[in-house]
Amino acid sequence: MPELDVCFDMGQCTRASLSASVIALSHAHMDHIGGLPYWFSQRYFQKIGAETHLPDTGQPPARGSVGKVVCHPELEAPLRAMLRAWEPLERQRTPSEIIPLAPEEEYQLKNNVTLRAIETRHTVPSLGFAVIERRSKLKEEFKDFPQERLRALRQAGTEITHPVEIPLVAYTGDTEPGEFLVRNEFAKAKIVIVECTFFEPEHRGRANTGKHIHVEDLVRLLHVWEAESVVIVHASRRTTIPYARERLQALCGEHLPRVHMLMDHRMNRQRYDAQVAASQALVAAREAATASRLAESAAANDATLVDESDVRDADESSG
Ligand SMILES: [Zn+2]
Ligand SMILES: [Zn+2]
Repeated sequence: MPELDVCFDMGQCTRASLSASVIALSHAHMDHIGGLPYWFSQRYFQKIGAETHLPDTGQPPARGSVGKVVCHPELEAPLRAMLRAWEPLERQRTPSEIIPLAPEEEYQLKNNVTLRAIETRHTVPSLGFAVIERRSKLKEEFKDFPQERLRALRQAGTEITHPVEIPLVAYTGDTEPGEFLVRNEFAKAKIVIVECTFFEPEHRGRANTGKHIHVEDLVRLLHVWEAESVVIVHASRRTTIPYARERLQALCGEHLPRVHMLMDHRMNRQRYDAQVAASQALVAAREAATASRLAESAAANDATLVDESDVRDADESSG
């Protein structure tokens, strides 16, 4: 989600994901983590977010230019080991930042927006996430007061507002259904991104064994979730999109208009293309800003800058 500077999981590194500086990692199964080393590498070599990084200083890049992954604390050490293993393979070190986040802890994404970790139940340590915006809301007792009276009260030191939490997006990650999925962060979120792996009635048992959500669980959750949009991810490869769509149509009833499948390209292709274009424009604008800063700096130091990305092919296809 480029607007929130966060991307949920990194099974494959897509172009659109590069503009986010934070990966919220739900768990470390390969389909959620496979693209992570490549994402770190692409962000670094394309100098995305590297406004403060001057390649000729020989210094490690400044904080803020390095991709960050927020993860379950139990994943911190194995993630470090995985990234270390790349160093002798690539014969270089790609900067990365690993931020362990225990259940109920929060990581600040923006001024008044945080990412909260919510413990879920999968076959390995796992987290769901909620992006929470904090606003101050006028207290109920002052609701009908005219502006000038409110101003006078505020000047007299009266607390006329109270803080409220607005869950913008909630993401389940892979999990079995549980009480954590009806918490306020999920019930009140504007958008819920939900794994729904199994759609066939006969795959109930597989869902239980693999600790995944079955479409019948999803239907129950739809009654609780008030979200404008519920976005389904993670459908099993065995399930075709038309079949999944058919099952949703049969089961979701009045909730159907709110339910979308992320991988439904027939419905989403245009939106996806627009998102990639917007994300690339954002990256290009940042790069232009970086280039002009580098040019200023070069002029100031009368130094020649060597752009590492000219030497190294940073194209996605280079592996
Ligand atoms: Zn999994
Ligand atoms: Zn998975």
